[in-house]
Amino acid sequence: MTSAEDYRHNPTLLAPYLALSQGGKIMAEYVWIDGEGGLRCKTTTVDAPVKSVSELKEWNFDGSSTNQAPGHDSDVYLRPVTIFKDPYRGGDNILVLCETFNSDGTPNRTNHRFHANKAMEAAKEHVPWFGLEQEYSLLDADGWPLAWPKGGFPGPQGPYYCGVGQGRVFARDLIEAHYRACLYAGVEIAGINAEVMASQWEFQVGPCEGISMGDHLWMARFLLIRCAEEWGIKARSFLVSFHPKIVKEGEWNGAGCHTNFSTKEMRAEGGYSAIMDAVKKLESKHMEHIAVYGSENELRLSGKHETGHIGQFSWGVANRGASIRIPRQVAQQQKGYLEDRRPASNIDPYEVTGIMISTCLL
Ligand code: ADP
Ligand code: MN
Ligand code: MN
Ligand code: MN
Repeated sequence: MTSAEDYRHNPTLLAPYLALSQGGKIMAEYVWIDGEGGLRCKTTTVDAPVKSVSELKEWNFDGSSTNQAPGHDSDVYLRPVTIFKDPYRGGDNILVLCETFNSDGTPNRTNHRFHANKAMEAAKEHVPWFGLEQEYSLLDADGWPLAWPKGGFPGPQGPYYCGVGQGRVFARDLIEAHYRACLYAGVEIAGINAEVMASQWEFQVGPCEGISMGDHLWMARFLLIRCAEEWGIKARSFLVSFHPKIVKEGEWNGAGCHTNFSTKEMRAEGGYSAIMDAVKKLESKHMEHIAVYGSENELRLSGKHETGHIGQFSWGVANRGASIRIPRQVAQQQKGYLEDRRPASNIDPYEVTGIMISTCLL
């Protein structure tokens, strides 16, 4: 088995340079969310290894090039919020997740973390935990799922979920590299599995407390896209898609980002009543939640393919066709967590965890 360190751009050419001393300095890759909900990054040299974000400078970038600011007032500021280890550069080099701010000091339009963090602070005493299941699809350069017949379909769903063997799972090497990159970086990745649609995968992140859920999910996405970039150059063409319904015709599952949620009260003995309270509150705010649960999610929440219909809130124990599922073992033990199955794969996790807290706790 190879380590994340082996998955570099053209490692043969790079190898002698990777062995060079950095002269005590480190590279800090600042990462942020752009105007389309994609990710951007740029690197700065730092004089010595750092332990906390307070040692890092506030930086800026040209927001007119990322759909985050107009050309006549284009500076957008990057404020470091979380540090991860850099699996691509290794050593003391780091990845720095940032919030974005406009020149007048207000949070950028895309900075949902800023608002979610206020809700998290207000609800701190409840010690909210989240676990997100990020589903995604791998596409070929032509935008059709990887390894599918061109313009056609593979055999029907069934063998692909948690599949093993040729013709059942695709690109396991890329998925493995991503998993290892996450572990190295310090991302709280909880597991991976092949999904129901061929060339669809899932990774889980969590449980994470409060605002750190969004931080870890965004960094896991960054690492996935970054690994896939190398695969494209080295071997094949890979695009990672977070679209919730890649294949619209036929019997194919969409992609979601199930949001598992609990509080201190729900996890305690007899916490089931706190879970039911939350379900009732979620029911009363169904459409408000749907509004931030991803774009084109209406294509996915059809009431088929393991979803509840977008127009109708529902819940049930062990029911994968409901908006909210209570895991069987949670009902048995009368404590634990709930699973909100509505969020699409292309959500901003700060928006989703933020509204969850506002609805259920504030
Ligand atoms: P599924 O059966 O829906 O596919 P997964 O195993 O893929 O479930 O994901 C379950 C998620 O729930 C994991 O990300 C895990 O971290 C999270 N989780 C487990 N316990 C809790 C909890 N008490 N609060 C919040 N999230 C939790
Ligand atoms: Mn899952
Ligand atoms: Mn899944
Ligand atoms: Mn799930």
